[in-house]
Amino acid sequence: MKTIGYAAQSAGDTLAPWEFERRDLRPNDVAMEVLYCGICFTDIHQVQDDWGWGIFPMVPGHEIIGRVIDVGEDVSQFKKGDTVAVGCMVDSCLECDQCHHGEEQFCREGMTLTYAGRDRITGETTQGGYSKHLVCREEFVLHIPDGLDLSRAAPLLCAGITTYSPLRHWNIGPGSQVGVIGLGGLGHMAVKLAAGLGADVTVLSRTEDKEADARDLGADGLLVSSDAAAMEAAQSSFDLIIDTIPVKHDLTPYLRLLDVGGGLVLVGQIGPIEEMDSEPVVMGRRCIVGSAIGGIAETQELIDFCAKKNILPECEVINISEVNDALERLKRSDVRYRFVIDMASLAAP
Ligand SMILES: [Zn+2]
Ligand SMILES: [Zn+2]
Repeated sequence: MKTIGYAAQSAGDTLAPWEFERRDLRPNDVAMEVLYCGICFTDIHQVQDDWGWGIFPMVPGHEIIGRVIDVGEDVSQFKKGDTVAVGCMVDSCLECDQCHHGEEQFCREGMTLTYAGRDRITGETTQGGYSKHLVCREEFVLHIPDGLDLSRAAPLLCAGITTYSPLRHWNIGPGSQVGVIGLGGLGHMAVKLAAGLGADVTVLSRTEDKEADARDLGADGLLVSSDAAAMEAAQSSFDLIIDTIPVKHDLTPYLRLLDVGGGLVLVGQIGPIEEMDSEPVVMGRRCIVGSAIGGIAETQELIDFCAKKNILPECEVINISEVNDALERLKRSDVRYRFVIDMASLAAP
């Protein structure tokens, strides 16, 4: 199938229209027209080849909402016209222990990324959702329930599941005390989802100017991390802190805020962790852990939870022609809180 997307032809290029082929349907494939695609900070890292394993030309995008236009002969869960979604992965072995217990993102053979990955069968480069059409095996396609605002649902597929999965893993619910560091695309979803699960939520910020925004998103308060007295008073008060800061920073001040047995969850790649004090970790069994997206079943659970509770990302919807400008603005954190591309603005080839 001939299609069109916005691609970087080489590392660091601006994105420009590019015609390419989507594979013919395998028996277990779903073909969709992409309706909306969110813009994630990962897209910037990948286009710039910050991690050194980008494959070019590259069509980014892993927060995808689509409508089914065709299905392979063995597909049983989807039919033409269904509203569907695809997130950060499009395949895995589905046979290892991790895949069997529903954490395909930790597949022993490695998940296949939605873009800048290699197809498990042909080895061809995967291309993402800044495109008119997408083909994905049935097991990695998600259902979008009726009534969910499609123009705002896309960020659930990365920002949403990335913050929901640790909340669920740590059994966050009514009575839980949750801290959220950073109030960007991931952080604002962490606030909404933790509040939606019934937790008391505090945003941690260097300055107090984010307090009104934090409360608007559902937080109960804001803790100013540069205020030594406030930080001292908040020691041992959180069950879980979700740290969404995407760059290197000192973790020690946050560890002391955790209650005994509490966890500081990193959801961004921050590189080497600075020297830190072991005392709060040892004396209180506190831990630093990481978390990466979530499995397919858990992603479906998140989507259904958000539909039921009417929890949706705050989005700025743009046309595809504005995508390069949006990436520049995202680098400056100049967005509330997630860009979503309306793919109707991209004409089919
Ligand atoms: Zn992402
Ligand atoms: Zn596997």
